[in-house]
Amino acid sequence: MMSFQVVSSRLKLRKLITVHGNITSLYLKNKYMEVKNTEIIIIGAGIAGVSAAVYAKRSGLDFVLCEEKAVGGQLLLMEKIDNYIGLGLGLKGWDLANNLDKTLSELGIPVVSGKITDSVINESASKVDVMIEGVTYEAKGCIVATGAAFEKLGVKGEAEFSGKGVSYCAVCDGFFFRDKNVAVVGGGNTAVEEAMYLSGIAKKVTLIHRRDKLRALDYLQKEMAQKDNIEVVYNSVVEEINGSRILEKISLKNVADNQRQELIIDGLFVAVGVKPNTEQFKGKLSMDEKGFIITNEEMQASSKLIWAAGDCRRRPLRQLITAASEGAIASMGAYKYLKGRYVSV
Ligand SMILES: Cc1cc2nc3c(=O)[nH]c(=O)nc-3n(C[C@H](O)[C@H](O)[C@H](O)COP(=O)(O)OP(=O)(O)OC[C@H]3O[C@@H](n4cnc5c(N)ncnc54)[C@H](O)[C@@H]3O)c2cc1C
Repeated sequence: MMSFQVVSSRLKLRKLITVHGNITSLYLKNKYMEVKNTEIIIIGAGIAGVSAAVYAKRSGLDFVLCEEKAVGGQLLLMEKIDNYIGLGLGLKGWDLANNLDKTLSELGIPVVSGKITDSVINESASKVDVMIEGVTYEAKGCIVATGAAFEKLGVKGEAEFSGKGVSYCAVCDGFFFRDKNVAVVGGGNTAVEEAMYLSGIAKKVTLIHRRDKLRALDYLQKEMAQKDNIEVVYNSVVEEINGSRILEKISLKNVADNQRQELIIDGLFVAVGVKPNTEQFKGKLSMDEKGFIITNEEMQASSKLIWAAGDCRRRPLRQLITAASEGAIASMGAYKYLKGRYVSV
């Protein structure tokens, strides 16, 4: 049984943490927290993290792979993947996630289950402390592969028809809507870029924006105005997404005059934002204004002890194939940092 002194000092420590924002290092030194050592800690077992783990294993690095939810990350949200070369067409996201899991087992790579809740980067001591549910991992380096999440509209039918007409990625799913009618929701650069991308595939694209002006850069708007199969509907929000087995129509509300209308479409692309899972490194690494980690081409972040790979990193193309490549590059970058040389794998 825990003594009163132990409970009381724990409570005092907790109080200290609450009072002082910058007390994390003290928290990490809490003698009641288990401390484990490793060369590299890899956070996230999406395709980027798994790829990093495979390369770390093959290089003989001592590492820990940890995952908050399940191996595969966003793969588990994906209907099918037709643009990952070499895997044939129609592969399900779940199947690729299962294959990743199988690869980890075959290579004898365990996955530590839990959420990384904080980190302390100590460059002068050449160590990174990462906290995961009562354990502090003291590592010589860390690969952040925590991915990102698409912002949702939060309307009725969105979850039901996700993967059945509702998509968050034109590059991923646009192909399935050749000569069909689609809509894009959003008003920023991504929404306009997605609308233009889709205009080359679909019959008609309706861009729905809740304000009376788009936020996208001027040159993008001008370029979009040249496309004769894109129509912009201003001052409008999606209220409901409907269909039987797959998406058939959406209900729109005009926020200026409260008029409602239905739009018959085959596909709805939601482009209202992407949020990287990088809170644990906020203020500790260089990030762009949205929180994506900025790295060099070896995936090394602004700290020499941290590498970032996949969707949590600022990059031009958020796809499986790029995430997998970046995981491998990050791992070999970490190897080079630790061993002072590259190895051929
Ligand atoms: C619906 C949908 C369809 C898509 N279709 C395609 C497609 O057809 N083709 C294509 O190439 N790409 C597609 N994409 C994009 C592709 O899925 C991503 O680019 C890719 O999966 C990113 O991989 P990742 O490993 O960087 O991140 P993720 O897959 O997001 O993995 C990150 C992992 O880190 C874990 N994690 C996060 N924070 C923590 C923490 N604090 N502690 C521990 N673990 C943590 C998460 O649980 C997650 O498992 C699609 C995406 C979606 C959502």
